[in-house]
Amino acid sequence: MDDRDALLRRTAELAGGFLERLPDRPVSRAVNLDALRVALGGPLPVSGEDPLEVIEALARRAEPGLVGSAGPRYFGFVVGGGVPAALAADWLASAWDQNAAMFVMSPAAAVVEEVAARWLLDLFGLPEGCSVGFVTGATMANFTALAASRHSLLARAGWNVEEDGLVGAPPIAVVVGEEAHVTILASLQMLGLGRARVHRVATDGQGRMRVEALRENLARIAGPALVCAQAGNVSTGAFDPLAEIVAAVRELPNAWLHVDGAFGLWAAAVPGLQDRVAGLGGADSWATDAHKWLNVPYDSGIVIVRDAAAHHAAMTLGAAYYVETAGGERDGYNWAPESSRRARGFAVYAALRSLGRDGLAEMIERCCALARRMADGLRRADGVTILNDVVLNQVLVRFEPPGGGDADAFTRAVIAAVQVDGTCWLGGTTWHGMAAMRISVSNWSTTERDADLSVEAILRCTREAGATRLTVGG
Ligand SMILES: *Cc1c(COP(=O)(O)O)cnc(C)c1O
Repeated sequence: MDDRDALLRRTAELAGGFLERLPDRPVSRAVNLDALRVALGGPLPVSGEDPLEVIEALARRAEPGLVGSAGPRYFGFVVGGGVPAALAADWLASAWDQNAAMFVMSPAAAVVEEVAARWLLDLFGLPEGCSVGFVTGATMANFTALAASRHSLLARAGWNVEEDGLVGAPPIAVVVGEEAHVTILASLQMLGLGRARVHRVATDGQGRMRVEALRENLARIAGPALVCAQAGNVSTGAFDPLAEIVAAVRELPNAWLHVDGAFGLWAAAVPGLQDRVAGLGGADSWATDAHKWLNVPYDSGIVIVRDAAAHHAAMTLGAAYYVETAGGERDGYNWAPESSRRARGFAVYAALRSLGRDGLAEMIERCCALARRMADGLRRADGVTILNDVVLNQVLVRFEPPGGGDADAFTRAVIAAVQVDGTCWLGGTTWHGMAAMRISVSNWSTTERDADLSVEAILRCTREAGATRLTVGG
């Protein structure tokens, strides 16, 4: 066995050991930042160290600062996990070290992207001719889709934005829901469309765009219009009413409808959830994350555009027109804001293949069922309110202190106590002016037992926070 082989085998052992301990390890623990800095820090070594020692020491020293976000009881943000086949394919992608920029640099990476793209369009029920880009996450997927929209809207207005930029271009009216994800605004900011000049459409109690309000906004727009809707609100999981939004947008002469479905788009792959995304196929572009609900390791997002030529024109490094190569070979860089790229298609491909259509639908449904189970377990306790309709995998929870008082402060105290307890991890948010605990179930490995253990831990922390509060007199 040569040194490299020994190194990779030992690394596999370390990774395997971590994953084995993951379900029982505290999901997070108090971090001693100074200790972490000391453990990992020091001056850059002048002469190199033995690779095996570097890896052993890295694994040992990083451990206290690792969060169990890949494990079954991490409910913070919307993070997903890594199904085993995706993790393994991701390792291979590193070992193969393919550059997925161009077909000639890795025919295998190009073809795997092609195949995975076709499978994804099929799963989401989107037209076969759509183009698909494999990007780093939903932020870049949103960015790419909005760049394609900018191309198309301005081309129809007689302006070539790739050649001539935005200075002097016809203005694009941008319409987003009050609840648009911050990364939509970040994309607008990066694209020169501005985050503050957007028209904000009022939303309802679940965070869904109100169609009458959208129509009022659109009625005031004369030129090109970009409308950004959402499938899967990051707090409530709610879906904008896409069919009605499509109908409203289609009345404009020059409009583009984008759907941010970072995790919610996966509902389209589940027969029992498809009603939530009715109308989806009427949009012009879609963004989603593979590292969220497809459960592939970071970083992996997907952008889909109906008008492949617009997508190509916005991203290509070459001429800003659509080039069909002789064999139709796929050059990945034409569909993403990158040149040299990680071959992230391998992990997406492996996840889809190992789950299959049914396995994927089952995983997503299971997460939703567990979210409902946690909501039901929590709402049975005194003083606990579930603030949202649990239509997907997201639950918002609010806690009233025993004997009454400041529910915002109490909810935050419960969240902090749960985070310290370590049984599970979840975060907080402010929902319509109220502090709330946010639970997201998006990991393939979460079981009913994990959900129940977590509910018990949350209720235990609630009782303890209540008792402390009564002792200290509020
Ligand atoms: C997570 C999320 C994003 C951003 O995705 P990243 O993968 O973090 O870039 C965008 N929109 C929504 C609705 C999200 O949930």
